[in-house]
Amino acid sequence: MRTRLRGWFRGALGAGLALCGACASTDYPDLNLYSVDQDKAMGSRAYEELLAQSATLASGPEVETVERVTERLVASALELDHALAPRFDWQVTVLDAPDVVNAFCLPGGKMAVHSGMLPVAESDAGLAVVMAHEISHALLRHGTQRASRETAAAGLIAIFTDEPEEAQRAGVLGSLLLMMPWGRTEESEADLLGLRIMANAGYDPREAVRFWGRMAAGGGGAAGRLGEFFSTHPSERTRIADIRRALEEVLPLYEAARAAP
Ligand SMILES: [Zn+2]
Repeated sequence: MRTRLRGWFRGALGAGLALCGACASTDYPDLNLYSVDQDKAMGSRAYEELLAQSATLASGPEVETVERVTERLVASALELDHALAPRFDWQVTVLDAPDVVNAFCLPGGKMAVHSGMLPVAESDAGLAVVMAHEISHALLRHGTQRASRETAAAGLIAIFTDEPEEAQRAGVLGSLLLMMPWGRTEESEADLLGLRIMANAGYDPREAVRFWGRMAAGGGGAAGRLGEFFSTHPSERTRIADIRRALEEVLPLYEAARAAP
């Protein structure tokens, strides 16, 4: 019976059924059936698979920019003492993909930036907006939370106790996490934590209003290339208004970071 269940589960993932937005994904808001080590394992595995089939940039101004910004953001997350930040294996890679406006951070801290994101980001602060947002999805464990809710909704908790299948499951789910569309609550949470992380890193959080404005307007001539990002980060009309409201809370963090020696 368990073998049949597992087979069904894998089949469901393969068919994308686990992505079904109607699968009671708003129930069990804080449920997470995974350990942090499992987040890291599946993130690493998906990352390796992705890098094995992608062209990457090893050096140059794009790599320098991405490394400089993500290093400051990770240091800021550590400084804000987010419980998970010290446990993650942070790493970033620039993908040689000038036609793709996308970036992500997998569970466990493995990040990638498609080189097409950089012209839309325009500056370090612009890149910090999107990377702090991505880092926040990982720190908030949205990936495994979502996977857990949908598994629970499907009544399949039992399979999570079966160790031998773990590696395979990690691979399947890890790849799935790259395509998983976030919900409105997850987007708002990642926006807010992201603003705190970037402000504390000394990046002006007001840039978030300008960055998301550029993205909403089609990425400054990048229209048609934003589909991949927006398919996983549904943009709400309220996003920019919510960010404006949050600025009052995060601007003091930015001012304190700027005043620090
Ligand atoms: Zn998002």
